[in-house]
Amino acid sequence: MKFVSTRGESKALSFSEAVAEGLAPDGGLFVPQTMPDISRKIDSWEGLGYADLCFEFLKIFATDIPEADLRKLVDRSYRNFDDPEIAPMRRLFGDVYLLELYHGPTLAFKDFALQLLGNLYEYLLEKNGGRINVIGATSGDTGSAAISGLLGKKNVNIFILFPEGRISPLQERQMCCTGADNVFPIAVRGTFDDAQAIVKDLFGDVEFKAKWNLSAVNSINLARILAQCAYYIYASLKLPKAERAKATFIVPTGNFGNVLAGWMAHRMGMPAAGFRVATNQNDILYRLFKTGVYEVGDVKPSCAPSMDIQVASNFERFIYYLEGENSDKVRTIMSEFKKKGRWNFENFNAGGFSASKMDDAEIPAAIREVYEKSGAVIDPHTACGFKDLSGEGAKIVLSTAHPAKFPSIIGQAIGVEPVSPALEKLLDRELVKEVMDADKELVRKYVETHGI
Ligand SMILES: *Cc1c(COP(=O)(O)O)cnc(C)c1O
Repeated sequence: MKFVSTRGESKALSFSEAVAEGLAPDGGLFVPQTMPDISRKIDSWEGLGYADLCFEFLKIFATDIPEADLRKLVDRSYRNFDDPEIAPMRRLFGDVYLLELYHGPTLAFKDFALQLLGNLYEYLLEKNGGRINVIGATSGDTGSAAISGLLGKKNVNIFILFPEGRISPLQERQMCCTGADNVFPIAVRGTFDDAQAIVKDLFGDVEFKAKWNLSAVNSINLARILAQCAYYIYASLKLPKAERAKATFIVPTGNFGNVLAGWMAHRMGMPAAGFRVATNQNDILYRLFKTGVYEVGDVKPSCAPSMDIQVASNFERFIYYLEGENSDKVRTIMSEFKKKGRWNFENFNAGGFSASKMDDAEIPAAIREVYEKSGAVIDPHTACGFKDLSGEGAKIVLSTAHPAKFPSIIGQAIGVEPVSPALEKLLDRELVKEVMDADKELVRKYVETHGI
């Protein structure tokens, strides 16, 4: 199978090539050249374990990786999850289910994609030769999931910048207590925006970027989306057959990567009634699905910080399908949006999506209500999914982070602070980080000294 850019001006690439590229050279995102039809295969996947199902799904796309190799990559990627089901689903009350996506090493759903991506990078570098230096900035969660995915991988060093003193102690421990010698956490004295600006500058320096093979593990990588399709199919197959087409997936959303994966699986033939985009008070996507107008606003920091976004980076893939795979139209929309910060979709068709929005003030009450009704302790991101439980059939709320990552807000809501043995273990480990001023030259020197 080949993959093309949403903007139509890059050549079609194999799976491995598209994964290695990340962003297409024309600035677009990679999508399958033709959407496969999995509707007849799906039934035969019923009863498969998580890794088996994921392998069956991915081999449709990764046709340039020998099956035996892909099998090993997938097995290795889901080995470090702390639940034998990998993505267990349980009924909370009535027809509401919780799909727990927080059993990976950093206790957030990003592990599903980044564990696989880390193994794919290592595999491709070993096969094709070469080495890369991954550089990114994080305000917390993505950095730890990226680090965990690349931990100890051969031919890869990873540098993650974060604002010193402005991330939670737990997030800092997740990044700085890995003990791995290819991981370089950099605490800059400044804000997240300062850290981000330095990373952008380094990537903008073409010579430096080429010399050090700089690479980003951003949320638009094709492999991340495809890896995430698997848990939707897995969850669907846990429902009785007659219920599957009536199910609504409710997805706490930021960059639109998670929910897009489910929607793509549906386009390939996975039965579902719809997908609900659950935002926090940063509601650009909520407004879009209500009005057909896509318009940037200011980021309002919330207590579900991994969903605090201004522009949803994966949204371009949805536009591509919304516009009937018309790349010319995608280019027009994206450039107009870049210029004006706004696009009005005429005769907007939500394409099976609905949306809900939860303000910060509502989150503790939602956590409390779910706890009282079911005994389940949910994190503030997941809580946003409980704003709107309407719909006829099963409602599957995706739980994107382990509650122990946000002990204080949960303590406020229900009077109990959740703990996680994995996080407790970090307390005994040595914390290693490089603290420096928010100065691009200092970071550049550091990369030159520690890069491979
Ligand atoms: C990243 C993240 C999200 C948002 O996911 P997107 O794919 O960006 O929509 C939601 N919850 C948590 C806990 C996250 O880490």
